[in-house]
Amino acid sequence: MANKFKIRLSQPDVDAKDIAAVVTTLKSGQLVQGPKVVELEEKFASYCGTKYAVAVSSGTAALHCAVHALGISDGDEVITTPFTFIATASCALYERAKVVFADIRDDFLIDSVDVGNRITKKTRAVITVDLFGKLCDYAALRKILPKNTPVIEDACQAVGALRDGKRSGKWGELAAFSLYATKNMMVGEGGMITTDSKEYMTSCKQFRNVGQSDRYVYEGVGYHYRMPEMSAALGVTQLAKLERLTKKRRSNAAKLRKGLSGIPGVVLPTEPGTDHVYHQFTVRITKDCRKTRDEIIAHMTSKGIQVGAYYPKPLHTYRMFAEMGYRKGDFPVAERIASEVLALPVHPNVSDSDIAYIVSTFTKFLGK
Ligand SMILES: *Cc1c(COP(=O)(O)O)cnc(C)c1O
Repeated sequence: MANKFKIRLSQPDVDAKDIAAVVTTLKSGQLVQGPKVVELEEKFASYCGTKYAVAVSSGTAALHCAVHALGISDGDEVITTPFTFIATASCALYERAKVVFADIRDDFLIDSVDVGNRITKKTRAVITVDLFGKLCDYAALRKILPKNTPVIEDACQAVGALRDGKRSGKWGELAAFSLYATKNMMVGEGGMITTDSKEYMTSCKQFRNVGQSDRYVYEGVGYHYRMPEMSAALGVTQLAKLERLTKKRRSNAAKLRKGLSGIPGVVLPTEPGTDHVYHQFTVRITKDCRKTRDEIIAHMTSKGIQVGAYYPKPLHTYRMFAEMGYRKGDFPVAERIASEVLALPVHPNVSDSDIAYIVSTFTKFLGK
């Protein structure tokens, strides 16, 4: 895998400081739930502008903690998008809730109007996804939602995204982040929950610690979702350089936009504003394009450029959701967009010459 592509879709940024931090922790003898976890939580909360952050073992675990903190359970309905990674929906299934999908818009994000259509007396929460690094339209969503309906923000792809002075992590009653190896900030495997609520924070801390509020004080059923101390040490050094890495993603996105504009049938993502941190630079290949999306994937791959279709199938078309009564045709925008999406390399280690190569390979194949 490592040598197959000249330019990869993601590449963890690991420098000497990251390595030294992990080694120092390894030598410290404190390998679990120690000062580095506390430091990372404090710095992460401060960065997001929330009162609390809780470190966990994955973004999926973070989502599960958030659903559990809201007390969601049997028969409750949770509205979310079908155009996302499975964990956005499975976290509700873990607590035996019903997943109710709402369609998306052409910008890949959940359509507030369709969320409004799906609200019932049983609606207990909405899980939004700041997909590819772009914040959802929370102002529009809040206008549509009944007053006490909480939002869980799946910010797994959107650490650092900023709108109206508010970062990702601050838009939902709870938010979930992933620190998985391919994400904008990473520790290998890891996750984080942010919230302003002391009650939710306490619930998440117990839930990640097998239900314990203290050693052998079991408050309820929990899971083993703790973050190792070495990962937290890496998280601290990763967070310290996040703003620099995000800037580079945005400037790469601006260069890709410039180079790829004006190709018939290729729809580019929005301008690189601060509400977009470009976890992915995803273009849409529409039917007006001279080649199909899959022909472009094959061509770019043959030229050593890794590209991808995120996501190739909306969730409701998988068997587990089909068994719940969902059918092809239920979410026409998500279904069309799944056939159009194409992600191009945009990560901070993509150089100017890489971008020139991506742009020339793409434009030569498609013609301007
Ligand atoms: C990565 C991701 C997750 C899950 O995170 P893990 O750390 O892999 O468990 C959830 N939702 C979205 C949108 C993601 O991109």
